[in-house]
Amino acid sequence: MDIELENKMILNAYRGVLRSIKSNRSKEETKFIRKAFNVASKAHQSMRRKSGEPYIFHPLAVARICADEIGLGPTSIVCALLHDTVEDTNITLNDIESNFGNKVRNIIDGLTKISGEFDFTSSTQAENFKKMFLTIPDDVRVILIKLADRLHNMRTLDSMKEIKKLKIASETAYLYAPLAHRLGLYSIKTEMEDLSFKFTYPKEYNLIKNKLEKTKAVRDRYIQKFSHPIKKELDKQGFRYKLKARTKSIPSIHRKMKDKGVDFEEVFDVFAIRIILDSPEEKADCWKVYSVVTDFYIPNPERLRDWISYPKQNGYESLHTTVMSPTGKWVEVQIRSRRMDDIAEKGLAAHWRYKEGTDKNTGFDKWISEIREIMENKDSNTSDFLDDFKTNLYSDEIYVFTPKGDLFTLPKNATALDFAFSVHTDVGISCIGAKVNSKLVPLSYVLKSGDQIEILTSKKQIPKEAWLDFVITSKAKSKIKQTLKEEKKKLAINGKEILERKLNALKLNFSENNLKIILKHYHFKEHTEFFFQIAQGTVDLSKIKEINHKSGQLYISSSITKSIKNTFESLVQRVRGNENEIIIGEGADPNLDYKLAPCCNPLPGDQVFGFITINDGIKIHRNNCPNARQLRANYAYRILAANWKDYKRDAFITGLKFIGIDNVGLVKELTTIISDLEKVNMKSLNFDSKDGVFEGNIMLYVYDKNHLENLIRKLRNIEGIEKVVRME
Ligand code: MN
Repeated sequence: MDIELENKMILNAYRGVLRSIKSNRSKEETKFIRKAFNVASKAHQSMRRKSGEPYIFHPLAVARICADEIGLGPTSIVCALLHDTVEDTNITLNDIESNFGNKVRNIIDGLTKISGEFDFTSSTQAENFKKMFLTIPDDVRVILIKLADRLHNMRTLDSMKEIKKLKIASETAYLYAPLAHRLGLYSIKTEMEDLSFKFTYPKEYNLIKNKLEKTKAVRDRYIQKFSHPIKKELDKQGFRYKLKARTKSIPSIHRKMKDKGVDFEEVFDVFAIRIILDSPEEKADCWKVYSVVTDFYIPNPERLRDWISYPKQNGYESLHTTVMSPTGKWVEVQIRSRRMDDIAEKGLAAHWRYKEGTDKNTGFDKWISEIREIMENKDSNTSDFLDDFKTNLYSDEIYVFTPKGDLFTLPKNATALDFAFSVHTDVGISCIGAKVNSKLVPLSYVLKSGDQIEILTSKKQIPKEAWLDFVITSKAKSKIKQTLKEEKKKLAINGKEILERKLNALKLNFSENNLKIILKHYHFKEHTEFFFQIAQGTVDLSKIKEINHKSGQLYISSSITKSIKNTFESLVQRVRGNENEIIIGEGADPNLDYKLAPCCNPLPGDQVFGFITINDGIKIHRNNCPNARQLRANYAYRILAANWKDYKRDAFITGLKFIGIDNVGLVKELTTIISDLEKVNMKSLNFDSKDGVFEGNIMLYVYDKNHLENLIRKLRNIEGIEKVVRME
């Protein structure tokens, strides 16, 4: 393209950014923004995006989203313009600091730290997510700009490679959309889900999209008819308002069709009517409009939601009711003021603007500080955290009251014990019971909105393992786990003493080596757990006598014992899951790590797919795995295409029989040769040992006779192997 024309377009985009915060900037700030634009466009000068356009369009677009769609101010615009400079150009954080000051530097630093992609194939995903949250205490704008960045990347995803598309799309659905939701950025969340669905399921997406277009006229007529009497009455009463009809999004139509097993025709006309009032008497007028609506249509009493009196934690305020339309369909009507609508669309940034200078202790601040508390708990496992965190992200909320009438917001299905922990950790730990609406209830009692709850405590109480079964808040979970661990350590000391006494009585040394052998004998991996179980009385210590010993020392006799059997499964797993055997996604990215799912044990040649687990990277399942359907239905966005690499379809299965002298290293050596050196896939392996003689069978895949004979020759060379023969 013509450079001059390009420069003109860049300048236009820049002016667009300035216009979008016209009312919200001083002269000083305008200068500041211009400076950021100049620095960024110079730094990115020679760079182009995958689509071919000059790179600077990206930061400009991100800045625009920050202003228009999130409602952020000049500082964020400056940061959005500069957000990729430190990561991608030779500009340093020091340059940023000396040009734009400390505040901007910190935000850019945060953005650079969480840049790149979350790596779904390892636990670093959780670590990255954690990092993202650790930046919150400094400045929450980091996360908002990051969301804008991701939104623009999603909007321009078309030019990316297929495999990248899928990865970014599922990551967006999995991490960013829920985050946007939790921050109250509903329109961004909806768009992210929509785009993610479009790239993951292009066929389904286009099908629904076309059908929506075709049925638009019918829907419009229906909406028109439904809202006509309401409009007439509102006009008559002199309300200033806007009435909008909102169709369900494509992903949610798809979800509904799948969940209920119905056709498009049965869900397409599900929509919500939104009435946005222009009125200073927000609450009173919302209820007046409610009264008008329900004069014409009968409301469902169970579907009244008053988020005006009880705003959601993310600041959402609105009055929702579901009414019966003349054609027998339920229609949701949302009633809110313009301010409430702004908060619903633009989230907490808008919230701040309205709240400026007043109450700082908003639900959002509380939420952030809760997250911080969990993050700072060093003992909490990050993956656990991510799990717990996700439940909190998606849950709806309930409202309960203390005996004094203080309001607490908890996720749906929270129990009395969750409430105790949300009051204070000490209250949770010493909780022995609760009274809900003056009636005694167990700790596992599931709270309902409006419950008034009083917690009973005792200093003698200690947390129980079973508590974890019924608490659902991440705070309660992590605190219980932490205290349990401490308790366990204390008890383990008793257990250790018991073991020492027992060994003394058996005239055995309490030595490192003896302890190792005892752990093996009882199949424990780790001291603390073993000592703890001893203290609990669940270990029969008299079995120590079964172990061979000589002058105070224990030793293992040479036989293929259980210890081998233990390593065995992992060996087989390793053998069959040779690295880089599977290609994940549609492009060739051989670097994605994966594990074979134990539920269906895929073999080379099986039709397979990849599934992104929360804690354990990508798992490969067979297409006909018993779990496949459920995974696909509930977590479609976490499914990846997968194929066996270089799998020779003419490999055939064969069996080898071998006999040898029973020795500990034999099986390991055998499988090492087969899998690591020869890269042969094993189907099964079993062995038996009797009076020092070892016999076994292996079923494996070979390509041809040469291949097999070569393998047999190598196996025969193993020390201790007497005979290797092919089974007929
Ligand atoms: Mn970017």
